[in-house]
Amino acid sequence: MYQALLADAKFHEQLLVFDRDLAASARAARCGLCGGALHRGSYARKPRGGPAGLGREYAERFSFCCAVDGCRKRATPPSLRFLGRHVYLATVVTLISALMLGTTPARLARLSVIAGLDRRTLARWRSWWRSTFTDSPFAAVAMAALVPPVDIASLPASLLERFAGDVTERLIALLRFLGPLSGGSSCEERAFGTTAMRAL
Ligand SMILES: [Zn+2]
Repeated sequence: MYQALLADAKFHEQLLVFDRDLAASARAARCGLCGGALHRGSYARKPRGGPAGLGREYAERFSFCCAVDGCRKRATPPSLRFLGRHVYLATVVTLISALMLGTTPARLARLSVIAGLDRRTLARWRSWWRSTFTDSPFAAVAMAALVPPVDIASLPASLLERFAGDVTERLIALLRFLGPLSGGSSCEERAFGTTAMRAL
């Protein structure tokens, strides 16, 4: 069922619609520091792992820059498509990581073929969920609010099962939950740019 979702172009288009709404809200809220107008300053990304034919806009990580000289603060809205600095789409990082739990080597090999993934990438994702994600200030606060506590070793499946609905609804809820993890700092910083980006 997870694999079907990963190949579902309509589902991915829906995530783009959510991201457009989040971007419109961020722009309407104006600069958080000085109240200035926000100009478009999207990052060019090369997202991996999605279905074919998603279009050019899908590679755009929506982001804005304050237009006021001397401020220029960047405002990057949450995204349901991109997760932090991962080059693979958030859907892939989340669902494949959930599938990895308790899987057999044969199944893992099949998954690797599906998304063009190698084992080192999968191992990095596992470590991201168990340390980078868990140690982030956002996750520390968000996870502390969950009762009973989420099983760290079973992330992200243990988080996915906390949300209601079918697989699609739960994944969307989880991607929204993870939204605060994706953001930028200043307009000068290009850490999310395709050239400077580490392949996580
Ligand atoms: Zn400003």
